[in-house]
Amino acid sequence: MDAEPGQFIMVWIPGIDEVPMSLSYIGEKIAITVEKVGEATEAMHDMIEGDRIGVRGPYGNGFKIFGEKALFVAGGTGIAPLMPLIRKYEGEKLAVIGARTKDLLIFKDELEKITKLYISTDDGSHGYKGFATDLAEKIFEKEEFDIVYTCGPEIMMKKVLDLCLENGIKMQASLERYMKCGVGICDSCAINGYHVCKDGPVFDDSILAKIDDFGKWKRNEAGKKVRI
Ligand SMILES: Cc1cc2nc3c(=O)[nH]c(=O)nc-3n(C[C@H](O)[C@H](O)[C@H](O)COP(=O)(O)OP(=O)(O)OC[C@H]3O[C@@H](n4cnc5c(N)ncnc54)[C@H](O)[C@@H]3O)c2cc1C
Repeated sequence: MDAEPGQFIMVWIPGIDEVPMSLSYIGEKIAITVEKVGEATEAMHDMIEGDRIGVRGPYGNGFKIFGEKALFVAGGTGIAPLMPLIRKYEGEKLAVIGARTKDLLIFKDELEKITKLYISTDDGSHGYKGFATDLAEKIFEKEEFDIVYTCGPEIMMKKVLDLCLENGIKMQASLERYMKCGVGICDSCAINGYHVCKDGPVFDDSILAKIDDFGKWKRNEAGKKVRI
């Protein structure tokens, strides 16, 4: 599979559902990293080697490499789409990963080797006690960098956008929206005139600053707008 960091695939779990998943490894090994949140992801967690899934893609745009020093800010499984980018980025790398608790911190060992890593947990079981954005704010005060790449809960990404706009720093964020087709037909992932599946999932600060629904509204399975 010839894919760019930030692109995703639609994974069909026969008899259950088809769901979007970012690629967390691109290259010799191709992989996705799945958090168990509902029926489809639970079925994937129950799978054993040799079980079959269907895959189509890669879809969407990818992150654009920019500058010589980058800060990566990830919440939970939001680190998954950032991993291929972090591996590819040749400049200096700082990373913040945040999770609810230490058992949910993923890719920590690899990140320790390839980035200057900062860790936060909501319950203080590892690293800084608090949110990834609190840590990011502290890093903004003492470090200089060319760009921030982020993925995670939308409220977190909105805070990162605001921080970047205040400090005049470029940023790119990978958005998550409910998706059915993955190719811009079904409108499930429509957000202020953009399709997250086709125009995104990665958007930069210039577009995000104009997307009114960012950090506020999303669509549910029925297409109804609901508060984030
Ligand atoms: C571009 C993109 C990349 C993603 N990458 C990853 C990843 O790398 N790892 C990962 O664990 N998760 C990822 N997700 C989220 C993942 O698609 C959902 O968690 C999954 O679809 C939930 O399915 P479920 O049946 O287990 O849960 P459900 O019980 O159906 O729902 C649980 C939650 O997931 C949301 N959800 C359900 N179906 C979809 C769907 N088709 N599209 C988007 N959200 C949905 C629901 O709104 C709800 O909030 C990504 C989502 C998008 C849009």
